[in-house]
Amino acid sequence: MILRNEDLDPQRSRAEFARAMMEDLRWLGIRWSEGPDCGGAYGAYSQSERQAHYLEAWRRLRDGGFLYPCICSRKDLAQAASAPNDTDDEPVYPGTCREREDSAKFTEPAGVNWRFRVPEGEEVEFEDLNLGRQRYVAGNNFDFGDFLVWRRDDVPAYQLAVVVDDAAMRVTEVVRGADLLKSTARQLLLMRALGYAAPDYFHCELVRDAAGVRLAKRQDALSIRHLREGGMTAERVLEMAGWP
Ligand SMILES: [Zn+2]
Repeated sequence: MILRNEDLDPQRSRAEFARAMMEDLRWLGIRWSEGPDCGGAYGAYSQSERQAHYLEAWRRLRDGGFLYPCICSRKDLAQAASAPNDTDDEPVYPGTCREREDSAKFTEPAGVNWRFRVPEGEEVEFEDLNLGRQRYVAGNNFDFGDFLVWRRDDVPAYQLAVVVDDAAMRVTEVVRGADLLKSTARQLLLMRALGYAAPDYFHCELVRDAAGVRLAKRQDALSIRHLREGGMTAERVLEMAGWP
């Protein structure tokens, strides 16, 4: 078990949050053998310390023709997004900047958004160890468009960071929420472009509140910390989360 601190967003990541997360997980009885607190052979285990790895991947992808710079503003993107997509997925990008002629002048990642050029119409299939066969069609007119790989504020996007880290940390099995199923299809395309072998995937049903709404960080009343301070036992928390 590896604990990786995904702290790339400077607005939302603070050292005390990471410490509290590890403390709560330990209280729940979850143990890891590699992590920011205990080290390991494939560190660093905080993404904020791994920029050089992401940069190297960005360069390889760009040199391979897999990326292009996108200068669309937030407003452009909002106007271009026709029908609303899945609520918690990124909107399908219409491909506006795909064929810009001045792309070659962007030689560093910072300053513009960088997108992965998805193979239009290609089927991406994988066997999920929990949910079975999954199938998505790549493409701006299909399930997902040219997705973000690097943000203009010089932060690698989630998709790139996890792919680079899973490969570098020799991850063999990824267990995560079913809200990331479609992202797995994106990540498989990134892995192929970078020449990485894919790990196995096991996507879990999301934990929901009494009204059936998926838990979010803003619902503090159901945070592990809050339940624990209210006197609930670790066993009861796991039971509520559907732990077998
Ligand atoms: Zn664009």
